[in-house]
Amino acid sequence: MGRLAATGTWQNWARTASASPRRVLHPRDLGELVSGVRDGASEGLRVRPVGGGHSFTPVAVTDGVHIRLDALDAFERVAPQDHGTTHVTVGAGIRLGALNAGLAERGLAMRNLGDIDKQSVAGAISTGTHGTGARLGGLATQVVGARLVTADGAVLETSATQRPGLFELARLGMGSVGVLAAVTLEVVPAFRLEAREEPWPLEDVLAQLDGPDGLVDGNDHFEFYWFPHTRRALTKRNNRVPDDDVRPLHPVRGWVDDELLSNAVFALTNQVATAAPRATAALNGLAARALGSRRYTAPSAQVFVSRRRVRFREMEYAVPRDRLVEVLREIDAWIESTGEHVPFPVEVRFAAADDLWLSTAYRRETAYVAVHQYLRLPYARYFQAVERIAAQVGGRPHWGKMHWLEAERLEALYPRFADAQRVRADADPAGVFSNPYLDRLLGTARPPSVRAA
Ligand SMILES: Cc1cc2nc3c(=O)[nH]c(=O)nc-3n(C[C@H](O)[C@H](O)[C@H](O)COP(=O)(O)OP(=O)(O)OC[C@H]3O[C@@H](n4cnc5c(N)ncnc54)[C@H](O)[C@@H]3O)c2cc1C
Repeated sequence: MGRLAATGTWQNWARTASASPRRVLHPRDLGELVSGVRDGASEGLRVRPVGGGHSFTPVAVTDGVHIRLDALDAFERVAPQDHGTTHVTVGAGIRLGALNAGLAERGLAMRNLGDIDKQSVAGAISTGTHGTGARLGGLATQVVGARLVTADGAVLETSATQRPGLFELARLGMGSVGVLAAVTLEVVPAFRLEAREEPWPLEDVLAQLDGPDGLVDGNDHFEFYWFPHTRRALTKRNNRVPDDDVRPLHPVRGWVDDELLSNAVFALTNQVATAAPRATAALNGLAARALGSRRYTAPSAQVFVSRRRVRFREMEYAVPRDRLVEVLREIDAWIESTGEHVPFPVEVRFAAADDLWLSTAYRRETAYVAVHQYLRLPYARYFQAVERIAAQVGGRPHWGKMHWLEAERLEALYPRFADAQRVRADADPAGVFSNPYLDRLLGTARPPSVRAA
C-alpha cells in the first residue's frame, strides 16, 4: 500500500511515484477537511487527496497538501430502495475491505468488485476501478451520490439530479474537482458465488468467448489469464448460486493456491526470470500448469478479492470487446518477434457499456487487457508496444495505471472530454486540485477566461 515515511515522503504501492508534500492532513471530520482544503487553497498550495496509494501513476502526488481520509470511514446511512437495492452512504476514505465487511454485516454486497480490497472507495471510483462481468459496470457505476468539498471550502451534494455535471467528475474524475467526503453506493443483497477456475488451451478460450452461451455472456463474471510464451490460459468463471450452496475451499488448498503458488512461488519464478530471462517461457509453462482446477462457493467479496504480494508495474487498456482477439494476437506476435521476456500473465476482463463521461467503457462493450511486469524488470518497451496495438482499435487507458497518452489524444477517445474539461475549469478555476500529471491528462487547469484567450 502507499506509505508515509517519518520524513513525510510518500510512495505509492508500485514504487513508481513519490511525493514530499508541505503538509499531510488526516482530517477526523468534515469540518477539519473543509478547513484543510480552504487553508491550502488560500496559501496557494496544491491540494491532493490520496487513498490507498494503489495507483501506478503520480495521479495523487502533490508538493502542497496531501489529504488522507482514513478517519472518514464510517457507515453514515443505509436506505433500502424499491427493486431490492439499498443506498449506502459511507465516508470516502473507507477501504474496500472494511466496506465489504460492513456491507456483509448488514446482509449487503457490492454488485461487482476488482481483484483487491486495499483501495479506498474514493480512490477506486476516481480512477474507474473495475472488475469483470459483461452485464456489469465498474465501481463508479455503482455510485448514486457524492459529497464533495470544493476549492473554496463549499460542501456540495452531487448526484444524477443535483449538479449532474459535477457529479460526473466527482464519481470518476481523479480528484480533479474536489475532495470526496462521502459516497453513496447502490448495493444489492449479499450473494454467494461459485468460483470455477480451470487451465484451458488459449485457442479454446478465444474460440468460445462469444455467443449467448459463450464464456463472456454465459457467466456472471468471466476472466482469464494468458501466460505469454505459452498457449495456455487460466480461466475464472464466477456465477451466483443459492445461499445454501456451501462448498468452501479447503483451507490448505486455498493456502497452497493463493499464498504458495500465486504469491510465494510466483515471486520466485519472477526472480528467476529476472536473473535468467531465457528461462521465462519454461517458467510460464510451469506456472500455467501448477495452477490446477478448483471449484468452491463463498460470499461474493471473498471470491472477487485476492492477495497480491508480488509487486509489479501495470498498464491496462480498455478495447472494444469485438477487437479483443486481434489485440491479443498482435501482442503475442510482438512478444515472439522481439524476444521480450514476460514472466507475468496478461489479464483479460470484461464490462458492459456505460455512460459515465470518463469511463473507459463509455458507450461500448469493453474488454480490458492488462499487462504487468515484475518490479525489477524493465517495462517500457513492452508496455509501449501494447499501447501502440491498443491505439489501433481506439483503446482507452485505465486512469490509475501506466500509459503515455496526453489530453489531446484522450479527447479523441472520450466524446464528453470537452464537457469534463469545462466542469473542471468551473469547479477549480485556480487549479488547486491539479498536479503536472493531471494537467497532462486533462489539460492545464486554468480559468475559463484564460483558456478562451
Ligand atoms: C495490486 C493492485 C491491484 C489492482 N487491482 C485492480 C482491479 O482489479 N481493477 C482495477 O480497475 N484497478 C485495479 N487496481 C488499480 C487501483 O484500483 C486504482 O489505481 C485505484 O485508484 C487505487 O485506489 P487508491 O485508494 O489506492 O487510490 P490512490 O491511488 O491513492 O488515488 C487515486 C486517485 O483518487 C484520488 N482520490 C483519492 N481519495 C480521494 C478523495 N477522497 N476525493 C477525491 N479524489 C480522491 C487521488 O487524488 C488520485 O487521483 C489495482 C492496483 C494494484 C496496485
